[in-house]
Amino acid sequence: MVCGAHPHTANNLCIDCSNDMPWTYGGCVVCGQSATPNKLEKDPHYTCVHCLKMPPCYRQTVCAFNYLPPINGLINQFKHQRNLASGRLLGACLNKKISSSSITTWPQILLPVPLHNKRLRQRGFNQAQFIAAELSRSIGIKTDTSLCQRKVYQTPQQGHSRVERLAGMEGIFEISQHKRHQYINRVAIIDDVMTTGATAQALSQCLIDAWHGPLDIQIWCIARAQSPNVQINW
Ligand SMILES: [Zn+2]
Ligand SMILES: [Zn+2]
Repeated sequence: MVCGAHPHTANNLCIDCSNDMPWTYGGCVVCGQSATPNKLEKDPHYTCVHCLKMPPCYRQTVCAFNYLPPINGLINQFKHQRNLASGRLLGACLNKKISSSSITTWPQILLPVPLHNKRLRQRGFNQAQFIAAELSRSIGIKTDTSLCQRKVYQTPQQGHSRVERLAGMEGIFEISQHKRHQYINRVAIIDDVMTTGATAQALSQCLIDAWHGPLDIQIWCIARAQSPNVQINW
C-alpha cells in the first residue's frame, strides 16, 4: 500500500514500510500529545502538564501514528477517495497498537464518532465506523452505532485552535434516550484523526452528562496530529 513492493503479509504492508511508519511512542497517556518534539518520553505513565492541571473527561488515549507521511496520505485516500484497502490497513495497524498497549481496562462497546447526516451523504460512509467495525471483528468488542448522533452540521475545523474548536462543539452530540439506561460503564470512542482533542472531549462530556452512574472512557484513533495550540481549558 505504500511502496508498491509485494508485501508478503496479510495486511498489504511490507515489513520495511511497517518499520518506517510514524508509530507513536512515549506521548501523554491521557491525551496522546507528544512529550516534546524530538524528545522521547520513556515513562510509560507520562502525563502532560495540561492533563495534570485540567484532566479531560476521558482517561486514556491510544493512537497508532503521528499524523505524518505516509499516514496522512493513506487517511486521505481512505476518507476522501473511499479507498477501503487503506482503511483496512489503518484499522489493522490500530489493532496492532491496541494489542501492544498497556490497556488495563477493556471497553464493553466501541463508539465511532458519529458524522452528521449531511456529511454522511456527501462522503457515503463514516470512516470512524468503518475502523470500529474492523476492530470489532478482530477483538470481539461490539460497535454501537445508534448510541449517539451528531445533531449540528459543522464546516471543516482545520485551522481552528483547540479553544475555538471546543467552543464550537457545544450541543453537537446527542445520546439516544433509549440507550442511556443500559448497563455499560466502559466505552472506547473511535476516531480517525485526533487533532486538538476537542471532539473527543465534547463527546466524552456528552456521554458523562447523559449517563446514569460512572463511565470510563478511552479514545482509540488512527493518528494524532500534534497541535501547536497546547494551551487548553476544558
Ligand atoms: Zn513497502
Ligand atoms: Zn495530556
